[in-house]
Amino acid sequence: MQFDDARIPKDAVLGEVGDGFKICMWQLNNTRIGCAAGALGCAGGLIDLALQYCEDRTQFGRPIGQFQMIQSSIAELVVEHHAAQLLVYRAAFLKDQGKPNQFETSIAKYYSAEAAVHAANEVMKIYGSWGFSTEYPVERYFRDAKSYQVVEGTSNIQKTIIAGIAMGTAQNR
Ligand SMILES: Cc1cc2nc3c(=O)[nH]c(=O)nc-3n(C[C@H](O)[C@H](O)[C@H](O)COP(=O)(O)OP(=O)(O)OC[C@H]3O[C@@H](n4cnc5c(N)ncnc54)[C@H](O)[C@@H]3O)c2cc1C
Repeated sequence: MQFDDARIPKDAVLGEVGDGFKICMWQLNNTRIGCAAGALGCAGGLIDLALQYCEDRTQFGRPIGQFQMIQSSIAELVVEHHAAQLLVYRAAFLKDQGKPNQFETSIAKYYSAEAAVHAANEVMKIYGSWGFSTEYPVERYFRDAKSYQVVEGTSNIQKTIIAGIAMGTAQNR
């Protein structure tokens, strides 16, 4: 939606005139943490789907979960999910305390989005052709996971924020 030449009454101004960008950025940092938590849930849901399928699907006379390459994928996803969980909880904890958290929030959002995409990629492979099929939920998770790399600041933007604060050219707010 777009408004052209819209006139807003003074008593409807949110914050101070001229502060719009600052307020918008502050708000983005709030919604970003929710986004990080969403990506975390997405990765967790994918792991649940993978674990179930590892038991259900039999190939060459055994459940596919007995193949070490499948176990390797599962282990990677579980490790990344745990790491993402700690990062998201740390950012949320700082926010709850009213402490600066832009750095930690961007790290959590970046990492959990990348972990969700990696999980979707691996779990699609574990599901074989069913991963591609709309009869199973995995392909939908893939699309959902990708959205977390874009919304509330792309992964590139998160990296820009993280690097800026790490290098001292921006302040952690
Ligand atoms: C599922 C979904 C829901 C959304 N919901 C909303 C919503 O509710 N409200 C809303 O306002 N918007 C929403 N968006 C839009 C979203 O915020 C934008 O798509 C996002 O900010 C990226 O902007 P863009 O698509 O214009 O990409 P572009 O800005 O054109 O970026 C294209 C590519 O260039 C890279 N790039 C751009 N600028 C830089 C830079 N400075 N440094 C490095 N790389 C850069 C990006 O990382 C990306 O890879 C949603 C998008 C999706 C996919």
